[in-house]
Amino acid sequence: MKMKLEFPAKIIRKPIVSEICLNTGVLINLERVNIEATWATMIVDVEEKIEEVTRAFEEKGVEVEILEEPIRRDDGRCVHCGICSSICAMGVFSFGEDYKVEMDPSRCIVCKNCIELCPTGALEIY
Ligand code: SF4
Ligand code: SF4
Repeated sequence: MKMKLEFPAKIIRKPIVSEICLNTGVLINLERVNIEATWATMIVDVEEKIEEVTRAFEEKGVEVEILEEPIRRDDGRCVHCGICSSICAMGVFSFGEDYKVEMDPSRCIVCKNCIELCPTGALEIY
């Protein structure tokens, strides 16, 4: 399950992800990290104990958003040109046997690279 974590300034420098891995015994995969002077956001992937991990982050002051479907496509607008497939490094898009572009949104790390390149504006981030 993908989660978006938002860290307020006062806890940016604390080893919160490491602490939660140790305390819960859950491996947390960092998929995207943005750290600035006054804020930080992360997209992480957690495979088990979702509620426990969520609660642990929230108790430490981290805002947690569960990303059930990180990216969406308006199928009525998609013309299956495949441009998104060429830019996405995470393998979200692939061509099916009928040469239509298929999606596996669970692989998306919300980098947003595909959004502006889609010629029909069919893609939208959560
Ligand atoms: S770039 Fe847009 S129109 Fe082209 S296949 Fe991807 S979603 Fe469909
Ligand atoms: S946002 Fe990034 S990871 Fe997600 S589908 Fe688009 S290019 Fe791939």
